[in-house]
Amino acid sequence: MTFSRPDVLVIGAGVIGLSVAVRLQSRGLRTQVVAPSEGLSASDVAAGMIAPVMEAATDPMSASLEAALTGAAGLWPGFADQFGLGLQRRGCLWLSSCETGLRSGVETVTPVQARELAPWLAHDLDLHIAYAPAEACVTPAQALAALRCALQAAGGELTAGRAGWRDGAFWRDDVRLSAACVVLATGYGGVSFAEAAPELGLMAPIRGQIVRALDAGIGDNGPCVRGPGAYVAPQRGGGAMIGATMEPGETEAVTDVASLSRLMAAATAFAPGLKDRPHVGLAAIRAATPDGAPMVGPASSFPGLFLATGMRRNGWLLAPLVADMICAYLAGEDPGVHAGTMAPKRFIRTCG
Ligand SMILES: Cc1cc2nc3c(=O)[nH]c(=O)nc-3n(C[C@H](O)[C@H](O)[C@H](O)COP(=O)(O)OP(=O)(O)OC[C@H]3O[C@@H](n4cnc5c(N)ncnc54)[C@H](O)[C@@H]3O)c2cc1C
Repeated sequence: MTFSRPDVLVIGAGVIGLSVAVRLQSRGLRTQVVAPSEGLSASDVAAGMIAPVMEAATDPMSASLEAALTGAAGLWPGFADQFGLGLQRRGCLWLSSCETGLRSGVETVTPVQARELAPWLAHDLDLHIAYAPAEACVTPAQALAALRCALQAAGGELTAGRAGWRDGAFWRDDVRLSAACVVLATGYGGVSFAEAAPELGLMAPIRGQIVRALDAGIGDNGPCVRGPGAYVAPQRGGGAMIGATMEPGETEAVTDVASLSRLMAAATAFAPGLKDRPHVGLAAIRAATPDGAPMVGPASSFPGLFLATGMRRNGWLLAPLVADMICAYLAGEDPGVHAGTMAPKRFIRTCG
């Protein structure tokens, strides 16, 4: 592909910024990523579930967003293979106290069948159980490290620092950042760039607290399990992520004992072996747009600025799709059928 101005600056090194950058770099475009080297992003603390069926079943969303999640999941095997992201394709079990109704991609299983898939589940499960065999999971810490390695191996640059916008330009401290195109992939940090792209000011925070058990005793190659009040996502290396809270309006990435205890109590009700395993609480802020769909594409403000943010609770799932869409926009190609659902300018049009 031919780029008339071949430099791209990506601001943000969560799963979205890194996925965009590695895709651009692998298509021959010199890419620089700028992000602070310290602190935990939403991508760091996420469970890493690639689970469009369960997401659509448990979190109400538009049909167009559901289609985008399904499309993104379909890109994951190739994306994971290309960059060594360690996709675990063991499905997702859904334990529910009431009949959930079967959706496409979901089958009912008995408690015995569920325990064959996840032997660590409680013996006395008195719950309805469904199984979505095509759902998958990655281990975020390892997948982020693999993306950083792939980017640098392909010649991309990672620069530590916090970027800002002033006097009509992007800056890192007193260094003016210049590139033919800029991609803002700053998660909820994007609100500080609302002067550069006013639609970013519409984003709302949703804090997520989650528990990381380093040695969970559940193996590292089984299905994810969603139960009443908590989910358990096995991680490579023997750990597990037990999550997660959804706390709209909260901007501080802090944990509280009561929330973490509630998550652990809910998880140990169906996974008793997790009790007394050493664990630590983590928190981060998800970025949400007014309609729940991401902002991916050209900003409303000026040419050459692209947004890739507002992923809410599905940034890992959406990453390969977002990366492909940004590549297409930059190359002047068709960004595909989900472009309208995610266009940042949709908010400016409705306001104006
Ligand atoms: C508890 C929890 C569990 C989750 N579980 C899942 C899951 O199982 N599956 C799933 O798909 N999603 C999950 N999510 C959602 C997912 O983590 C997010 O949607 C995704 O990480 C968003 O990625 P991002 O790259 O857009 O933003 P972030 O991960 O927030 O990264 C933003 C990046 O921008 C940088 N940045 C911010 N401001 C600046 C600045 N001024 N200058 C330079 N850099 C800046 C940050 O340092 C960071 O590197 C979960 C989220 C949470 C909180």
